[in-house]
Amino acid sequence: MIELNNNEIYLLKGTCIPIIGYSRGIIYNLVHNTYYHIPKKYSLKLEKSRIVNPNLFSDDAVSFFVDKNLIIKIKRSQLWEFPKVKPIYVPKKDIEHIIFEVDNSKLDLLKKVIDKIREFRVRSFEFVLVKDSTLIDSIDTINFLKHEIAEPKALNIDYDVFLNLKDPVDFTSFEYLKLYSCHGNEALKKCNNEYHYSDIEYWKMTPKKFYFNFGFFSESLYKHPIFNKMFFVDKDGYFRQTPLGEILFYYQELNENTLSHVNTWEIIKNQCDVCMDCEYRHMCMDARLPIMQKESIWYFDTECNYNPYICEWRGSENWISVKQWREQNSEWKNNQKP
Ligand code: SF4
Repeated sequence: MIELNNNEIYLLKGTCIPIIGYSRGIIYNLVHNTYYHIPKKYSLKLEKSRIVNPNLFSDDAVSFFVDKNLIIKIKRSQLWEFPKVKPIYVPKKDIEHIIFEVDNSKLDLLKKVIDKIREFRVRSFEFVLVKDSTLIDSIDTINFLKHEIAEPKALNIDYDVFLNLKDPVDFTSFEYLKLYSCHGNEALKKCNNEYHYSDIEYWKMTPKKFYFNFGFFSESLYKHPIFNKMFFVDKDGYFRQTPLGEILFYYQELNENTLSHVNTWEIIKNQCDVCMDCEYRHMCMDARLPIMQKESIWYFDTECNYNPYICEWRGSENWISVKQWREQNSEWKNNQKP
């Protein structure tokens, strides 16, 4: 048994946050950008009180928390020095990230769309050439992007620009690489060819798509961490949330009002069926577009590769789909987390 003297307490660090899933918990260390799986009963206890009573945990668990720097021993009188940290999300831009589908034959339209968008504060631009572009066809486009868009300093505009260099043309050996400008901001890190574009199964989650830091965690508490302030603009100037999503509006209709009515931006994982039961929900880069089931409850028309009810990934020996699991466990609805 781990003993404390009367003047001492264990305190959960303000940047270490327990998250409760249906079957197990996670504790984030948002300073070290890492996380640990813990039993659900422990995450419930840690969530209830920051003062950690070691008698409620096994000695091994307390040693683990200390070892991983999740809890610290302090004098009771020092408690006021360790206020609770409340993650908040403060948007700095009107649009975080915008992806353009670029058609070599429609550069005039692209320029008009971009001019319209420049009325707003945008953090980063991404350009994706339409699938059937060839390198020769794209030379004008590249030059256009280079001169018109990719010189934010000259334009005195604070944004990042990058060209999606993956398919269909490999530009990596050309000077066009200069268009790629990445300053490591959150929006750019969110971008991954796999889930933004094309017929690749962009909705498929894998453990490699987890992302944990204070910014992402905070945003996910209040907004959809992928779609928040993000648009896809198709080659005809229509705004969507994803390449396959519905048309939201035509570029000429972009204004403060249309911006404030993109409801997918507001959806948080705690409102999405299945994800709300998943311990990974605040580190997950899942890019399936949520569908409204009823007010404040959303769902997805494809299943994630992870089943949070059994903590197994598709492909593992014990994996079954969520649908199968729910059929076999009809009582699950009454057994939701508090
Ligand atoms: S169930 Fe939802 S939150 Fe969990 S890994 Fe899958 S998409 Fe992410």
